[in-house]
Amino acid sequence: MTRLTVRRRDLFHWTCEHGADAIRRDGMVVKPHLGLSWWTDMDKADRHTRAACVLTSNTIKCDRMQYRCRAVSFGLLIPWSAYAVDADPAFVETLEQVPGADPSRWWVASEPVPVSSVRYAR
Ligand SMILES: [Zn+2]
Repeated sequence: MTRLTVRRRDLFHWTCEHGADAIRRDGMVVKPHLGLSWWTDMDKADRHTRAACVLTSNTIKCDRMQYRCRAVSFGLLIPWSAYAVDADPAFVETLEQVPGADPSRWWVASEPVPVSSVRYAR
């Protein structure tokens, strides 16, 4: 018999100081970015995380890798690979083709996600 193993791990939402203020106030990540909140298992504030999670912007000055928020539970978070199956193919392609992006490290949520901590990560 094959046993299905679900590996439990911590997932994080990276954000700027403004995002962190709102998340602390609400106790959860509510504000959607492109209609979703974005999560990853990457926990280090380094260039690999920035590239893989596309925490870059040419249009805003905020550093979206200043604060790391930890999800209380795994339950509301959907692996990107599962979400992408039913998503608009153009939307999926646009995100996945960003240089350095690593969609295998992405999770998304369409509902508010409670957080257990909001930490300055720099
Ligand atoms: Zn900001």
